[in-house]
Amino acid sequence: MKFIPVNEPLLQGNEKKYLMECIDTGWISSEGPFVAQLEKSFAERCGRKHGIAVCNGTAALETAVWALGIKQGDEVIMPSFTIFTCALAVLRYGAKPVFVDCDPETWNIDTKLIREKITSKTKAIMPVHIYGLPSDMNEVMKIAEENGLMIIEDAAEQIGQEYSGRPCGSFGEVSTFSFYPNKHITTGEGGMVVTDDDAIAEKCRSVRNLCFKPEKRFVHDELGYNFRMTNLQAAVGVAQLEKLDEFVIKKRHIGRLYNEYLKGLDKITLQPVSCSYAENIYWVFGIVLKKESGINAATAMKKLADRGIGTRPFFYPMHKQPVFLKDGTVMEESLPVSEMLSEMGFYLPSGLALSDEDIELSARKLREILL
Ligand SMILES: *Cc1c(COP(=O)(O)O)cnc(C)c1O
Repeated sequence: MKFIPVNEPLLQGNEKKYLMECIDTGWISSEGPFVAQLEKSFAERCGRKHGIAVCNGTAALETAVWALGIKQGDEVIMPSFTIFTCALAVLRYGAKPVFVDCDPETWNIDTKLIREKITSKTKAIMPVHIYGLPSDMNEVMKIAEENGLMIIEDAAEQIGQEYSGRPCGSFGEVSTFSFYPNKHITTGEGGMVVTDDDAIAEKCRSVRNLCFKPEKRFVHDELGYNFRMTNLQAAVGVAQLEKLDEFVIKKRHIGRLYNEYLKGLDKITLQPVSCSYAENIYWVFGIVLKKESGINAATAMKKLADRGIGTRPFFYPMHKQPVFLKDGTVMEESLPVSEMLSEMGFYLPSGLALSDEDIELSARKLREILL
């Protein structure tokens, strides 16, 4: 039986050519020229002054949080429905993640619920663009401004997306990205921090590279990390970035086909094709089973796997993570939309290499199991 994987990247542009350049010239470390080239083009694409390439998206967030000086005693507000990385990046520095439920339509942080979580310790808001639609950034910026808070925009899932015509990755003090192979562009492993602020950029460059002091090599005033990206990764990234516009069109094509094939299926809900401020970019094509369907995500995913269709569950809410509850890092609370999404939600094959036939087949199998 044919198996359709949940993700497969497309590497059909200049990736091989640029990689050969690395090998031929001997430039394979982070000192090679593709790193600076990727930083420059990627920052430009986001409308930002600086790009700082790092070894993955998790490192990008840890770099950003460090550069903003977030520390023990501080609080950072973020959606509960997100990847573990967001909470981890804040906890690394002894600060506390504070979780907000998400909007039932867009699955992004519910901006109406942010204000009630702000305390005298709150330093920043970390909006995370979920799956295909961005967070409502106008609202986030308004709340941040009113309360003197910084913004860390996690745009990992929406490279090439726009919010009201403005690039995702251009909001707040600092924005972060991942180039994992399921993202809109990939470097195998990789990530990027972008910012307009010279001082923040300088701090990001420093912490990425063990906080070496430019003027006094091997003398350290601070603890850094080795989060450097290699020239090999950046070579792939430069080639991928050349294809970003095509990739965005392809993802929207995948979304359009799924919507067509799943039309009238009343046992599921989908993220809207568009909302007042953005057109869905379909990083992944998510399905939320309605209660009336009689099955949950785990059962549906098992049935689809038996029929050759790869899927992934939705995020597990941060406020329910066993590692946080067992030591009292977070208090028990109820955030019903995040809980419902994680129980009833999963996504279908959504990778760039997907063929129209694979989309049709995946949709047909989903219909079959919901009969
Ligand atoms: C993928 C992702 C990350 C982490 O990226 P890695 O490169 O896997 O470390 C961070 N935030 C979000 C929202 C993501 O989807």
